[in-house]
Amino acid sequence: MQLSKLAFQVSKNPPANADTINHQLLVQAGYVRQLMAGVYTYTPLGLRVLRNIEKIIREEMNAVGGQEVLMPALHPKANWLATDGWNKIDVLFKLKSRTGKDYALGQSHEEIVTPLAKEVINSYKDLPLALYQIQWKYRDELRSKSGILRGREFLMKDMYSFHETQADFDRFYAEVKQAYLRIFQRLGLTAKATEASGGNFTEKVSYEFMVLTDAGEDDIFYCDACDYCVNQEIAKVKAGDACPKCGATLQAARASEVGNVFDLGQKFAKDFDVTFTKADGSRDYPIMGSYGIGVSRCMGVIVEKYHDEQGIIWPTSIAPAQAIILALNGAEAYAQEVYQALTKQGVSVLLDDRSESAGSKFAAADLLGVPVRLVVSARNGKQIEWKERTSTTNKLASLEEVCQWLKSS
Ligand code: ATP
Ligand code: MG
Repeated sequence: MQLSKLAFQVSKNPPANADTINHQLLVQAGYVRQLMAGVYTYTPLGLRVLRNIEKIIREEMNAVGGQEVLMPALHPKANWLATDGWNKIDVLFKLKSRTGKDYALGQSHEEIVTPLAKEVINSYKDLPLALYQIQWKYRDELRSKSGILRGREFLMKDMYSFHETQADFDRFYAEVKQAYLRIFQRLGLTAKATEASGGNFTEKVSYEFMVLTDAGEDDIFYCDACDYCVNQEIAKVKAGDACPKCGATLQAARASEVGNVFDLGQKFAKDFDVTFTKADGSRDYPIMGSYGIGVSRCMGVIVEKYHDEQGIIWPTSIAPAQAIILALNGAEAYAQEVYQALTKQGVSVLLDDRSESAGSKFAAADLLGVPVRLVVSARNGKQIEWKERTSTTNKLASLEEVCQWLKSS
């Protein structure tokens, strides 16, 4: 991608209304544009990051046997009446058609996936079943001030599983919990799993996956010595107490919830009368679980964790490109050549070929946060200056070396 042709450019100044780092840097670097509070456009480069996050999530959800679907965002009122969500869920967006019919916008999809699964679940042989999607969710959030951390429209991965027995559910639940920890690790995030009550649905245990950040909206107590972590809202412990698991001292911190897993029991199966035939011929309701990840929130949390005074520092796994070439004065033709050669080799690379000063190109590269900066200048001839975003030193290399390093990174 050539920056001179890019519709959304880096800006010299931060947006005036940003009250979080992710909002400020994502807008200034040109990754997102705000339409209104909690509603954003993802630009071509921002969309690349979002897609890279999705790819990691898809791989791990497919690996635990999830089957991807795409369910509607526009729902009939009847489905939400069946669970009483129509009256009880305060964030549910409701709308009326011109013929007076009521609809809801999906804030989650238990109300849609359960009757959908009913069509294919007849016997225990159809179980377990796990369906997931990556889709925009709509919530009438009262406050949407934390950039893309809390949207009124936001991207979520939501998976729903159906099981014959509690034991099979427990097995799958544990597998998904491990897959979640792998996902967050691959995204560069250290997520702690809290034990929490089951929210809206049941009194059963659920886990929230928390990433420590001051931009988050949750308060947690956690232990540095082991993996104990609990949401302050429900906690029986406090900061300074001994960790109930290992005895070390508990600390308080702000955190952002990047995902969660719920044991839904048989609630939704009962609401939609989903039953299956057991091996002994009797009928029962399947046990259900739901598993969410805030895909767009993850992107924001990553910016909160990975930045410095100069801009974003994307982890390589989700960066919008592997490298950015800066074409300095007098080396434009060679920079083009390097760009073409790397692109041909399958390296994803940006080329800063704008008519800007060297200084503003250096600033843009730091703000964009691409892992490797390649400076091509008349002074260095055919040699390319290689510098990693996380490093303060640079080195000169040939095009062949640069190509080799990027292909193996
Ligand atoms: P929160 O407590 O932050 O409101 P939640 O308990 O409502 O989250 P779920 O309904 O389980 O969350 O949604 C699954 C995941 O979607 C959450 O773990 C979070 O990462 C993400 N998420 C929830 N609400 C939003 C939002 N308004 N904007 C962006 N991401 C969100
Ligand atoms: Mg919420």
